[in-house]
Amino acid sequence: MSGVIHLLPDHIANQIAAGEVIQRPASVIKETVENAIDAGATDIKVIIKDAGKTLIQIIDNGSGMNTEDAVRCFERHATSKISLASDLFALRTKGFRGEALASIAAIAHVTLKTRLHSVETGNLIQIEGSKITNQEETICSKGTSIEIKNLFYNVPARRNFLKSDIVEFGHIREEFIRIAMAHPELNFSLYHNDSEVYRLVSGILRKRINDILGKSSNDKLVPIEEKTDIVTLYGYVGKPEFAKKTRGEQYIFVNNRFFKDAYFNNAISKAFDGLLPQKYFPSYFLFLEIDPSRIDVNVHPTKTEIKFEEERSIYPIILSSIRQALGKYNISPTLDFEQETSFDLPHSMRNMPVVEPTIKVDPTYNPFKTSTDSASRSSGSSFSKAIKAEGFGNKDLNPKDWEAFYNIEESEEPIQEKIEIQVEESALDVRQLVFKGRYILSPLPRGFMIIDIQRAVERIVYDELMNKFILNPISSQQLLFPISIEASKNEIDHWNDNRSLLERFGWNWTVNENQLEINAFPSILQEEAIQPCILQIMENIVFAEIDKGEIAHALSLSIASAAGKIKKVEHHQSAEQLIEELFRCPEHSYCPSGKKILDKLTLEELSNRFS
Ligand code: ADP
Ligand code: MG
Repeated sequence: MSGVIHLLPDHIANQIAAGEVIQRPASVIKETVENAIDAGATDIKVIIKDAGKTLIQIIDNGSGMNTEDAVRCFERHATSKISLASDLFALRTKGFRGEALASIAAIAHVTLKTRLHSVETGNLIQIEGSKITNQEETICSKGTSIEIKNLFYNVPARRNFLKSDIVEFGHIREEFIRIAMAHPELNFSLYHNDSEVYRLVSGILRKRINDILGKSSNDKLVPIEEKTDIVTLYGYVGKPEFAKKTRGEQYIFVNNRFFKDAYFNNAISKAFDGLLPQKYFPSYFLFLEIDPSRIDVNVHPTKTEIKFEEERSIYPIILSSIRQALGKYNISPTLDFEQETSFDLPHSMRNMPVVEPTIKVDPTYNPFKTSTDSASRSSGSSFSKAIKAEGFGNKDLNPKDWEAFYNIEESEEPIQEKIEIQVEESALDVRQLVFKGRYILSPLPRGFMIIDIQRAVERIVYDELMNKFILNPISSQQLLFPISIEASKNEIDHWNDNRSLLERFGWNWTVNENQLEINAFPSILQEEAIQPCILQIMENIVFAEIDKGEIAHALSLSIASAAGKIKKVEHHQSAEQLIEELFRCPEHSYCPSGKKILDKLTLEELSNRFS
């Protein structure tokens, strides 16, 4: 009887390999651009249509391939880069596994044009689903052009799994940046849907970083240099005062290959200990040079995981060289971040009051003034309905009534008397107690409700924006003098990509080099909240993986949280109003970012404390 095991045909094996190597359009960009670099190209052009779903084309001026290689390169385990097992320990090329082109050709329509520098004509190969459909001599430029169309056309699960164009293009951009950052000596350009996204001209590393992140990043960089027997370390870290609330600008390379490493990342964070406020992340652009035999690149098909033989020795080298560099540039751990909240502010704004928590607020300003605002606070209010529904109490209670709270019950509780005296003396005119501008204490039939003001405002504003923006644009307030906010090219592109939605939310801006000039903002915000709000939006739309439909959520959330941070409730009328508004929201127990808004302290709990 014959066995049941057989070898998979090549086209199936290739599809399986593709599952590991090619996860999304960005993976194709990574593999093909790396091939161009390995082929010695000095000029690499990346052309993308519809975030790579329709077309990815890479044009290079590298070595090109002869007729035989042009066919062979699509075979599995076909590589010109290694031939002996020992070569694996002396890798200087990006590729070596010989599976990228075979994988790509298994799941897309590919056209390759390639020509050696020494000959007049080149080769054209067309291949789809691992089958060559056309092969001919062709006239083409020296080097290689590879066109990849209809990615995942025969893997519907993958194709359907792709995110929106904005998200997918975000990944492409990130891969492009990682490679371009590692090779400042090469020219790179990136086009998306016919517009130029980057044109990077060769130069030194510092220039490359500035070209990618925006010119002004130059003042923010502290150089790192360290040579040891094990490793040579060079590059830049961002000055602590320019740290961001996102991990966006963190790049580490070994032998010019981008990789991810939580352990080394920890060394870098440690070097910034005491220099950064909580939840801020340092920027870094660090390059390790190490003998290739002391690392293993072949841990993962995409090669972003790398094993280091001497990682324990490298850790302290990274830590101490960054510490030293920061020290040299007089960045001492005494920096007072309480005072220094105006990161990245243009000069004209430097003297403005700090953002949190001491922003000046007009106490009479009421961002919640809506037509329904003067709704009666009768016993049928949203609040009392809601507390009944919540099981907080079963009386039809008017929240104003402290008396209702005190007079309910059980006279045998000794605590009762004392409070009544105090109530008569001073508190009767206080219906809600606003504590430190942060909490509202509000009486319930059998206890207190405690409301976190910031989170309540966040919920109210969020709901209002989400309910309104679909029907009408959010009302916008013009600025007399535009506020400029510095942004990287990537961030500016994201603003522009989302222009119509951002405008609908009340933002209006122009771009001036690497500045967003804000001309108008959602009028629900106060002017002081513009800057933090924009930073929050950038964080949400640039770095978070946001898909269609979620951008509106992210925008509303950013605006709501900025509004929440500066809203102060100073007198009981507005506290009442706030409670009423809050309980009109269908979800009033949690704010949109998921944190709880309300808590309660019951009479039982209180009296237990005094037992
Ligand atoms: P690997 O890069 O691991 O060798 P690939 O599947 O990416 O495997 O590529 C297979 C081979 O095709 C490479 O080893 C190289 O010889 C050739 N090749 C691929 N892209 C190019 C290019 N842009 N220019 C010249 N040769 C190329
Ligand atoms: Mg390759």
